[in-house]
Amino acid sequence: MPETPLSAVRAQELRDRLEAERARLRSQLAEIGGLAFDEGFADSGQVTAEKSEVDALAGTLRENLRDVEDALAKLDAGTYGSCERCGGPIGEARLEAMPAARRCIACASARD
Ligand SMILES: [Zn+2]
Repeated sequence: MPETPLSAVRAQELRDRLEAERARLRSQLAEIGGLAFDEGFADSGQVTAEKSEVDALAGTLRENLRDVEDALAKLDAGTYGSCERCGGPIGEARLEAMPAARRCIACASARD
């Protein structure tokens, strides 16, 4: 076995997981988008609070979806597994735990 950062088999596994995650995020977003918050419904503070919760959740889901889509694009481009900050390898264990990770562990907590 050659020592490559990420074997083709492993990359395929991660791609499968990313694609499943993308489908899950998209359906969650579709579900949220399908909730009725039309004006005839109610104008109460409770609805407003629920709507802002949903908005916050939708924002998180969209962010996650962007990470997943970027990871898939990087798999296609052959740049997957490289840290976006330092360019070093992210590491297989981290990618296993978080396939859409953009940064290596060392850079993950960096604030720039
Ligand atoms: Zn890094």
